[in-house]
Amino acid sequence: MQPNMEKENDSKMGIGGLLRRLLPFVLPYRWLLFVTLLLTFAGSLMAQVNAVVLDRAVDAINALLHLDGGFQWSAAARILVTISIILLGKELLSALVTFGQRIFGEKIRINVSRDLSLRVVDRILQFRMAFFSQDGNEPGKLQTRIDRGIMSLSNTVKNFFIDILPLFTSAVLALALMYAANVYVGLVATAIIPVYFWITAVQGRRMKGWRHRVFGTHQQLSHGILNIIESMGVIKSFNREQEEAAKQAALQEQSTEQQMQTRRISFLYEGLKTFVEQIGTVLIIILTAYLVLIDYPGMSIGKIMYHVMLFSNVSAPIRQLHRIYDDLNDALVYAEGFFGLLDADNEVESSGKWKMGNGKRVQGRFEIKNVEFTYPSGAHAIRDLTMTIEPGKTTALVGLSGAGKSTIVNLLDKFYAPNSGTITLDGIPLREWDTQALREQIGLVLQKNHIFSGTIEENIRYGRPDATHEDVLEAARKAYIYDQVMELPDGFQSNATQLSGGQQQRIAIARMFLKDPPIIFLDEPTASLDAIATEQIKNSIDAIKKGRTVIVISHNIGQIIDSDALYVLDTGHVVQSGLPAEVYRQGGLYKEILDASARSMNVDKIAEAMAL
Ligand code: ADP
Repeated sequence: MQPNMEKENDSKMGIGGLLRRLLPFVLPYRWLLFVTLLLTFAGSLMAQVNAVVLDRAVDAINALLHLDGGFQWSAAARILVTISIILLGKELLSALVTFGQRIFGEKIRINVSRDLSLRVVDRILQFRMAFFSQDGNEPGKLQTRIDRGIMSLSNTVKNFFIDILPLFTSAVLALALMYAANVYVGLVATAIIPVYFWITAVQGRRMKGWRHRVFGTHQQLSHGILNIIESMGVIKSFNREQEEAAKQAALQEQSTEQQMQTRRISFLYEGLKTFVEQIGTVLIIILTAYLVLIDYPGMSIGKIMYHVMLFSNVSAPIRQLHRIYDDLNDALVYAEGFFGLLDADNEVESSGKWKMGNGKRVQGRFEIKNVEFTYPSGAHAIRDLTMTIEPGKTTALVGLSGAGKSTIVNLLDKFYAPNSGTITLDGIPLREWDTQALREQIGLVLQKNHIFSGTIEENIRYGRPDATHEDVLEAARKAYIYDQVMELPDGFQSNATQLSGGQQQRIAIARMFLKDPPIIFLDEPTASLDAIATEQIKNSIDAIKKGRTVIVISHNIGQIIDSDALYVLDTGHVVQSGLPAEVYRQGGLYKEILDASARSMNVDKIAEAMAL
């Protein structure tokens, strides 16, 4: 899936499709919905009371004034008291009904919004890694797509499932009352409605495309801000604050222009609609006044007020209906991106059925045969790769940057699937492996291991959530981090993000001891550490390697030379392999890399300095 938010056409989904997609999220709350609808319906009935009461009141007072026996205060007081009681009573009832309707309506909206976000998070966690490296799925863009989707969809639920029906009944009811009072007045009111809808349709056509553009720019903006925050160090060190601000300013300007354009169109048509509505009111006043003047049966002065109020009861809901229509159109833009995520079945990680028996461990023999792999971005990272990883041994992958070493680890962990060729673990093809069962067998230590915000203990326990406190301490001892942690004021309850790079790396290794997988991938575990930290964690790396199948990728000669086997890669292809010493004797790329590292380290001078 690739929802292209910048495209020109409006969504393919359509309002019907959108509501069908939303229905399953609303159904769990059908009883709540039913009660809310009843309350709102009661509210729309009560909305007509004012018009009826005023009609009667004006006529009654008018009759009092023209009474033969003269005007009587007691009769007038009776009328006024009755009106007050009815109007105030109705208002009190109406306040209660509105309160209930709002609270229940909000409850449905908030619940639906929670369900939508739970569903999308569940979904994203299932996606394969390739999804996240695709264009358009950058963190900021994804976040906007999810946030806006949830917000506008839950609003749609409220608009459509809660507000629209009562509004509609309210308009129909008021119209029916108008017809009952006088057919001509009813006809005038009815004639205004199609004009109103016609203007709305024209407005809709003119807005076409703009919504998508506004949303696309929004996504770019939030992605840009996230980028700035992530690269703050680089920006500051190069004094590029102004350039970054200028980039944002250009986007903001585009966004402002687009928003203003949509607003301009919208306000223009809103004004037009208000004008049409006003024409309706004027026509109704003139018509009713004319009918009163010619003494048309059933017509009285009170009817002028009555008809105008009823007409506003017809036009107000229609105005609201139009707002809902507008919101629905907005929601269509966001819904496409949101449901696109829920629908992206092809992005879900594929999993086979094969599992190890309970608690059983693999031997750890990987056979890679004629594998080809290209990243979704088009980088052809692996070419006709064939290699065997022997169980229980440490295999080093060597090569220049970009040779495809990390990609091999990505393939072996099933983060990506090869385009062709086969990879087996203990003779079972990876695609037949249950993905979770496979990853149970593998531990991954990267250059920077993500430390979650939380205590050191929580971070180590991530390796095995049911581990006891004692297990955590034991894992820390094995990873040679126990003593240092104990020196901290809060010990294992200290915040893990405050640890140094080398310490964090050992927390990650302690995590591996808890997980205790038979296979370990070490992808440049010391690349971001200084020499002292590298030496310190050497002990923990040596400890974790024992008795496991290990693949190590490193620019650190010490870690390569220690290995039992070596594969040298160049542009995704094996160019040399064997025991480290043998491969060195063969000459070629490995010798070049090793000699260059020795030279860059100034080994001769170091030896001299140490001999002094
Ligand atoms: P190494 O680990 O040997 O430095 P990599 O396996 O990281 O090399 O990269 C091999 C090639 O694949 C490079 O050309 C790199 O740009 C590309 N590549 C690596 N990761 C990704 C990714 N997530 N998306 C797209 N291309 C990638």
